[in-house]
Amino acid sequence: MTQVSLHALTKHYPGAPAAAVDGVTLDLAPGSLTALLGPSGCGKTTTMRLIAGLLDPTSGDIRLDGTSVLATPPERRGVVMVFQNHLLFPHMSVAENVGFGLRMQGRPTSETARRTEEILARVQLTGFARRRPTELSGGQQQRVALARALILRPKVLLLDEPLSNLDAHLRGEMRDLIRDLQRETGITTLVVTHDQSEATILADQIALLLDGKLRQVATPAELYSRPADTAVARFFGGANFITGQSRAGQFLSALGPLRLPPDAPDGDGILTFRPEAIETGGFGENSLAVVVGDRAFLGSQTRVTLQAGPVMIEALLPPATAAALPGGMALRITLPPAALWVLPAVR
Ligand code: ATP
Repeated sequence: MTQVSLHALTKHYPGAPAAAVDGVTLDLAPGSLTALLGPSGCGKTTTMRLIAGLLDPTSGDIRLDGTSVLATPPERRGVVMVFQNHLLFPHMSVAENVGFGLRMQGRPTSETARRTEEILARVQLTGFARRRPTELSGGQQQRVALARALILRPKVLLLDEPLSNLDAHLRGEMRDLIRDLQRETGITTLVVTHDQSEATILADQIALLLDGKLRQVATPAELYSRPADTAVARFFGGANFITGQSRAGQFLSALGPLRLPPDAPDGDGILTFRPEAIETGGFGENSLAVVVGDRAFLGSQTRVTLQAGPVMIEALLPPATAAALPGGMALRITLPPAALWVLPAVR
């Protein structure tokens, strides 16, 4: 299993106003699955291409097990990248596509045939070996692309938006397949995605990239409940941000004093809590009087705005709970201390 370390990795495309990847330092533990998450244009694909050796960095280093690979050509890095549009050879059959890399390595025909059969079975494509890529669905093509990469037994696997062209049902299947194969093989894997829920389900750790800069690296649970700043929290679907001061375990703001979790730092800050953490009812600690405002039905949850004096709060409530709260109704809610988190004040 291979450790991947990016050290102050920077790529500035000639003529571009800013670096596409800007001083990224990131460790991928041996055998781990990391999601590189961020909005379109934040530098995710550029980072992958740098690791694969398809682009040269402007500065910084890429190390596999502690050794720099900057001078190593792409085909000798042991890094395989699966592109978003999977780029299968249209004139070759599925089996020929999958076995291509081994043939290039000059492996015996019998070994190539055996390994092709094995890997096609693993991605549930036994019986598709003779088809052409044009005779496959998008999901099947995606699995051929994955098989073509895995057959090479790479040290590092890079997957660029592997689920983006699939419908909801196939996305779930493909996500499970990637997760299972990654656990089975122990290949250190980096998955690029712009979808935070996908990253949360798939990854051991998430590296969040905004404007070419790494903003936070954490487990999905930490990113969700302990975001580093408002930009990270927003990207992760956070909604409530209330300025005030944190003092001796309490947050003082237009909402009145609220008890914080024990690890909250003192000073000016921005209180945040997830819309889904709000509890209806309660008269004790951290309870507030609010007036019910607008709502939007989202399927499994309903988004409801709640007016707490001058502050508007966004809540996500079970549809049955929300249905019993007409607009204009006075209500009490509770913000459990464990659900509160204080972000640094914006300067
Ligand atoms: P997406 O999710 O849309 O694929 P991304 O996060 O993968 O986006 P990149 O493709 O890495 O982002 O692009 C990062 C930035 O670098 C963008 O501003 C893009 O326009 C720019 N860029 C990408 N490739 C080149 C290039 N070859 N020359 C100049 N600029 C480029």
